[in-house]
Amino acid sequence: MANLSIEHLNKRYGATTVLNDVNLSIEDGEFVVLVGPSGCGKSTLLRMIAGLDGASGGDIHIAGKLVNTLAPAERGIAMVFQSYALYPHMNVRKNMTFGLKFTGVPPTERERRVTEAARMLRLEELLERYPRDLSGGQRQRVAIGRAIVREPEVFLFDEPLSNLDAALRVSTRVEIANLHRLLKSTIVYVTHDQVEAMTLADRIVVMNKGCIEQVGKPLDLYYEP
Ligand code: ADP
Ligand code: ADP
Repeated sequence: MANLSIEHLNKRYGATTVLNDVNLSIEDGEFVVLVGPSGCGKSTLLRMIAGLDGASGGDIHIAGKLVNTLAPAERGIAMVFQSYALYPHMNVRKNMTFGLKFTGVPPTERERRVTEAARMLRLEELLERYPRDLSGGQRQRVAIGRAIVREPEVFLFDEPLSNLDAALRVSTRVEIANLHRLLKSTIVYVTHDQVEAMTLADRIVVMNKGCIEQVGKPLDLYYEP
């Protein structure tokens, strides 16, 4: 379990300021949703929390440790993107365990985690199938499963439902809400969708032009996309 502390975070690409003095504390187990217009810096902030992109100034601590001093495997972070790039030549089980091979998790433990994640995401019947034989929603559940088996302290979601049709979006959203209830992990979730923000968030963070404009509980915030 981990809290996140973002202090005076700045990010510039050349002369362009993408994040401008971002300050945010996220509690252990909190579900925070980032919203705001396209280009306001949401994805950049997620990538920086994941340690995939360095800061121009300021700090990000995860459970009290500076994220960029930790090796990727020690960060305890898993990301789920909108394009669930599954490996086409691997079945669901392999897709879910592949990333664990390089983290020193032994085979029996990998199996245990896959079994548990498959149960949680209702993928038990699909473990031997290949991505081409899955629906969009099933594929996205596999992508979430791949993140779960890492047993991360923090999940980062970048518009995970935006490629799904309306019905799948609802059911996958429910899976994510259940996941949070079961695992009690800290979640930072980027979306354009107001319904997702309102139904999933403990707190909504509204960004604009690289700054945090408002932070509040869903019912206290009126957010106009
Ligand atoms: P959002 O996720 O809110 O749509 P992004 O974080 O993707 O916003 O982008 C914020 C701004 O940073 C945009 O203006 C984008 O063009 C710029 N940006 C993102 N990545 C790079 C990069 N690697 N080089 C230059 N500019 C970038
Ligand atoms: P890229 O997205 O830059 O092409 P990868 O996704 O293959 O690169 O991996 C970049 C780093 O992120 C690697 O250290 C890898 O172990 C790690 N990684 C891969 N998948 C995930 C995930 N779901 N969550 C967090 N880290 C991941």
